[in-house]
Amino acid sequence: MVEKLKKRGRGRPVGFVKHPVEYEDRFEKFYYENRERLSVERKNRYKQQKAAGLCIRCKNKSVEGRVFCWTHMLESRTTQKKRRPP
Ligand SMILES: [Zn+2]
Repeated sequence: MVEKLKKRGRGRPVGFVKHPVEYEDRFEKFYYENRERLSVERKNRYKQQKAAGLCIRCKNKSVEGRVFCWTHMLESRTTQKKRRPP
C-alpha cells in the first residue's frame, strides 16, 4: 500500500498533513516525524499477533475468535460501553 502511495508522488496518504513547525514536546515531535513508519509497524504487529492467536495489546493468548485476551476483552467492553451508551 505504501508503494502505491509513493508512486503517486506525495509519499503519504491524502489528508495526512504534517504537523505545524512547533511541537509541544519531544514525544510529539517524534510521533509526527515517524508517524507513517509507526502506522505501518503497528498494522503489521496487529496482523502478526492476530495470526499467531495472541492478544493485540499484550503477549497473552487471545480468546477464540477474538483479538483480545480475556483481560483486555473485558477492558474494551467497558470502554466501548462508555463510548457508545445503549
Ligand atoms: Zn491482552
